[in-house]
Amino acid sequence: MASVDERVDRALLRGVREREEERFARERPRSRELVERAHGSLLGGVPMNWMAKWPGGFPPFVASAHGARLTDVDGNEYVDLCYGDTGAMAGHSPPGSTPGIQAQVADGITFMLPTEDAIWVGEEMTRRFGVPFWQFTLTATDANRFVLRLAREITGRRKVLVFNHCYHGSVDESLVTLADGRVAPRRGTIGPAVDPTETTQVVEFNDLDALEAAIAAEETACVLAEPALTNIGIVAPEPGFHDALRAITRRHGTLLVIDETHTICAGPGGCTGAHGLEPDFVTIGKAIGSGVPSAAYGFTAEVAERIERHVSVEDSDVSGVGGTLAGNALSLAAIRATLENVLIDEAFERMTALAERLEDDVQRLIDRHALPWHVTRLGCRVEYLFGSTRARNGAEAAAAGDFELDQLLHLHMLNRGVLLTPFHNMALMSPANVEADVDRHAEVLAEAVAELFGDPGI
Ligand code: PMP
Repeated sequence: MASVDERVDRALLRGVREREEERFARERPRSRELVERAHGSLLGGVPMNWMAKWPGGFPPFVASAHGARLTDVDGNEYVDLCYGDTGAMAGHSPPGSTPGIQAQVADGITFMLPTEDAIWVGEEMTRRFGVPFWQFTLTATDANRFVLRLAREITGRRKVLVFNHCYHGSVDESLVTLADGRVAPRRGTIGPAVDPTETTQVVEFNDLDALEAAIAAEETACVLAEPALTNIGIVAPEPGFHDALRAITRRHGTLLVIDETHTICAGPGGCTGAHGLEPDFVTIGKAIGSGVPSAAYGFTAEVAERIERHVSVEDSDVSGVGGTLAGNALSLAAIRATLENVLIDEAFERMTALAERLEDDVQRLIDRHALPWHVTRLGCRVEYLFGSTRARNGAEAAAAGDFELDQLLHLHMLNRGVLLTPFHNMALMSPANVEADVDRHAEVLAEAVAELFGDPGI
């Protein structure tokens, strides 16, 4: 089958893009005014640098968002399938958690002291993910950073291992890649503190021989892994991968950290809960607080005991694991309200059924146009990639990327009221989505595909 590069008429694509950019700007005069003003005080006209990467020349400014709908300052309404890249997977300001969050806002936000919600949340996290002890941070990045420190501390080993094309947040040790089989700093990393080749080993996902070879020297403190890669399309583990990953890491005294930040899409306890994984540490952030900054890391009783032996209470405030606002009352109230009322078992059932519908739509379109693409789903998360074969690892998935086509598709969809997760083609379901949202996505994707690849005339 032809690769995307051969099938896409680049001149046509650029023409469509110009037309879509004009429409985008024409329909968003207020956003354009705001971004021009923002250039006076915000670097690149945005509050965080990656917001400038949206297609269209400038991002739409948001007026409000409720449930599955987001409205920009020009009154354009979007079906949101991006959900702040999973941060708002509970839906925007969900009716199930907003009252609990508002009540805590009214009763004090941060104290440097615990609230009872923390215990409820710890118990619930254990029920979902299996590991018995928990600590809380504000971001998944921090959860991962602290776990890497703890793993090094309790094993006395210096290295960590990650899979190629992983993303675990702005964690220094994980901003690495494999280039011609060697570890290299990831392209675009800003001002690395140390050369990550000193801290990190990298192997391809699903490559168990390479994993074993890398950690056999018994210098690796931990493997930090998503249970399926989700930041370079979705790359699923092959049958037996997780059992072998666990057996190999145990054999070499290497701790296993499973990052469930995105893979909570697989169910209430992520892949760990769904497949009975047995990690030493679990990390998770983003969705668990309905978007209120909140994240967590959990660990086994054995790890807890080792931490207590290594970490002194006297030094705990300046140990490199902490944060003044970590574990604050608002954050814990938000997690409690979200796990108690919103991201619950029944919601996952409905969200997954909707994602299956979306997956089927994309597959039908691929078949109809004989596109050299493929579609993958993990629970309520769907992703399509521009390569005809299902990627087995990060390198294969990266090779199926097409930045120009990707940007055009997102822009085309934005102009037709669908917000797909930018920088890849990910559609996420929240408890607020309904079938009509999925159908709208299918309609607008079909329109873009017909324009770019012609009508197959079937
Ligand atoms: N872990 C995974 C798997 C992620 O995808 C991300 C962010 N996309 C993070 C951790 C970091 O999350 P945050 O940027 O909210 O700290």
